[in-house]
Order: sequence, then C-alpha cells, then structure tokens
Amino acid sequence: MKRIKIILNIVLSTFLVTLSACGQNQGNIKSAQTLTGSDSSMMDKPDSFWKRTLSKEQYYILREKGTERPYTGKLLMNKDSGVYTCSACGNLLFTSDSKFDSHCGWPSFDKEIAGGRIITKEDNSLGMTRTEIMCGRCGGHLGHLFDDGPTETGLRYCVNSVSLEFIDAKSMPYGANAKDTLVLGGGCFWCIEAVFQNMKGVESVESGYSGGNVANPTYEQVCSGQTNHVEVVQVVYDRNVSSMEDILKVFFTVHDPTSVDKQGADEGYQYRSVIFYRNETQKKTAETVIAALNKEKAYDAPVVTQVEKLKTFYKAENDHQDYYANNKEKAYCRMVIQPKLDKFEKAFKHKVKE
Ligand SMILES: [Zn+2]
Repeated sequence: MKRIKIILNIVLSTFLVTLSACGQNQGNIKSAQTLTGSDSSMMDKPDSFWKRTLSKEQYYILREKGTERPYTGKLLMNKDSGVYTCSACGNLLFTSDSKFDSHCGWPSFDKEIAGGRIITKEDNSLGMTRTEIMCGRCGGHLGHLFDDGPTETGLRYCVNSVSLEFIDAKSMPYGANAKDTLVLGGGCFWCIEAVFQNMKGVESVESGYSGGNVANPTYEQVCSGQTNHVEVVQVVYDRNVSSMEDILKVFFTVHDPTSVDKQGADEGYQYRSVIFYRNETQKKTAETVIAALNKEKAYDAPVVTQVEKLKTFYKAENDHQDYYANNKEKAYCRMVIQPKLDKFEKAFKHKVKE
C-alpha cells in the first residue's frame, strides 16, 4: 500500500511540475507598478469582472447606466443610522446624516462623505444636460446630481438604491473607517488571490511582489529566484465584516504553512510562506495566530511562516490579476486553484461571498 502511495506521489508530482506557475510561458511581460496606500482604484477592471461579480440588476444600473423605477428601491425610506457604500466595490459614499426625503422616488443626499469619493461627468442623454455621478473608485454609475436641494448645501444627490449598500452603525464595531490592508505570501499568487476574491469583507485583492531587493520586478525576474521577492497578494478588507484573524484563518487553511519555500509543485524562495505586516498591531496579531496554531499542534510540523515588515508592494503585471477568473479552463486552474477554492468554501461556508 505504502509503495503504491509513493509511486502515486511520484507520478502526481511529475504531472504537477508541468502545472507549476513558473512553468507557463507568459510572454508580453510588462514592468510592475508600485502601489502605495490601500484605496486602490478598480477603474481598470474588465467588463467580464463586473459580469461575474454583479447581479443582473446591478450590472444594468452600475455598468450600463440604467435607472431603477422610482419608488421601488429598497433604501428609499431607510432612516437608520449608518453609512452608504458603493454596492459594486464598497467605496464609502454617504452617511445617513446627509440623507433626506426629496419625494423624487430615489434615495437622496445633500452631500457626499468627506474625501472626494464621487466623480461627476456631464450627461447629455435623453435630450437634456445633467450631471452624472459615479463611484470614484470603480466608476460605477450612481445617479445624478442636481442643484435644487432644500438644505444649506443646495445639492441633491439622486442615487439608485441598487448602486448602494447600507451598513448599519450597530454592525460596525470599527466605525466607518474599518478598512485594513494585509500583504500575504502563500505560494503561487494566482491561488491565494482567487480564494480571497471569494471571501466576505474582502474589497480587493491584487497580486504582486514583496520582500525582495529589486525595484519594479517583472514576473520573469521573480520566478528566476534572483530578486528575493515573494509572490504575494495585497488584500484590502473591511474589519467590520472580516477581522485580520479571519483573513489569517483562511490563509493558513489554503496553503501549507509548514512547507519551506514550496507549495505543491511550485518550489523556490518566491513561494515561501510569509505575512508582511504594516504596523505593530498586524505584527502582534500574526505572531499570536502562529503561536496558537503551534500550541494546538494544528499541523504535523511547526508553522514556518515568516513575519516580516512590509517595505514595498509592487503590483504584478495585468495578466496576473484576476488570473483564475480569466483562465478557468487552464489545467493549473482546474488542478491546483479549484481544489483550494473548494477547500475554502467547505471550511468557511459563512465567509463565502454570495
Ligand atoms: Zn464603486
């Protein structure tokens, strides 16, 4: 029996070598971009991304600039205390203090939340000139802005309910400013990206490189193992929905943290298991979670995940973003990424995005 297992492992590992992330011919590699800050833009997401992540009704309004029928929106009469975010990307747009009853049939606000999160554009459709309002982060259509508001601002932001998501103040232990960014390395970034894109509370995931000593590295350079960079994902998440501990629980389930510089067939320093912390809170949380896993003997071997200070996150080339979503038919996606997604969905049912 043992012999069969060994033979099976040899056959399987030989097969997986051909499926390893670096074994694929990338071609057309562009230089990486440096990203700072956590509120990264989602303006360049392809249409296929929105078709996959939005409902039909949301797609029609947010991407095709449709309008919901007046007096039908679920948030029209909402008077609860909280904040309104873009239903496509989670960008904070309005607070409940600015909402008023305009009797126009759509949720109305007299000002946007501080910080310039909404962009405007002249709209000459339907034979009139209006000011269209869009989410400043993802470009999603929200509605229109009029200068006939009854309050001191004189403004009326007339917004489709479908474009908005309401977050009740009672469910926000971190208040409105709950966003956090974490950079994680757990083997091939295509795998980890696909899992976190599917997790509740995660607003964006970007694949990139960190931890090395070459600025703006390319995928080829990182795969050569000469740069000391690691394939990582930068996860922006809402702590009111998922905590850093929640993120790490998923991280430690979908990769093997006891494996040194190796995940499956992907082997090399660029595949080491690492948490890049941005501040002392993240460092302490990471160390506490790892200590608990070792104390519980959660794995047969000790956790080797490194906890390192983040220097720079370099965003990877565009063809490495949304990799699983755009390459589902490829063998690597079916054989390596899909099982990780299945594992996540089975172990964290309550954390899977609807
Ligand atoms: Zn948005």
